[in-house]
Amino acid sequence: MLRAKKRYEVRTAGDRVLSVSASPVGAVTPEIREMAEKMISCMAAFDGIGLAAPQYGESLRLIVIDVPLSEKEAAAGLTEFEERMYGAMPMALVNPEVTGFSDAVCEREEGCLSVPQIWAPVVRPERIAFRAQLLDGSFIEGECGGLLARCIQHETDHLDGILFTDRLSPDAARRISGQMQQLLESGRHCNFRRVTRK
Ligand code: ZN
Repeated sequence: MLRAKKRYEVRTAGDRVLSVSASPVGAVTPEIREMAEKMISCMAAFDGIGLAAPQYGESLRLIVIDVPLSEKEAAAGLTEFEERMYGAMPMALVNPEVTGFSDAVCEREEGCLSVPQIWAPVVRPERIAFRAQLLDGSFIEGECGGLLARCIQHETDHLDGILFTDRLSPDAARRISGQMQQLLESGRHCNFRRVTRK
C-alpha cells in the first residue's frame, strides 16, 4: 500500500505570530485536542523535540513536547514526576506556566524549528517548577530539570513571543547575526513558511 506524503509547515523567524504573546486556551475542546495531535505529527515530521502553537501558526498557549531521556540523565536519577513526564511523551501541555526557577543556571546549545540550521548556547535556570493542563482536562504541577526543563522553558518562551536567539550573550548573538540576516531574508521570499513532506 502506498501512502501520499503529507505536507507539514512551521513558521520561521520574522513571522509576526512568533513575536507576539499568545492567547490562553479557553477550554480543552475536541478542536484543541485535534490541533495538538496535528502539532505532534508536525513536530515528528521535522524531527523536533518541542513545538509551540505559534510556530504552527496559531497564537494560542499550547505546546507539544517529545523530549528524549538521555542515558546520562537516567543514570543521574529522576524524580517521580520526571519519570511520569518522560513516560507520557509525546505530550501536549495546555496553558503551560513556569512558576519557579532554580538559582542555578546552565548553558546548553539550542536550536529551533523556526530558526533552522542555527544553533547557539543559551543560559537558563537548571530546574523549573511548572503547571499545565493535559488534553484529558486534568492538571499537572511539578518540578523538573535537565533537557525537559530546558525544552519547556524554550517552548513557553514561544508563547511570550521570545525566541532562543533573543536570549543569547552579545558574543553568541554576533556570531549568528549573519545567518539570522540570511534567514530573515529568505523567509521574506516564502512568507516565513518552512515546509517538509513525510
Ligand atoms: Zn523553538
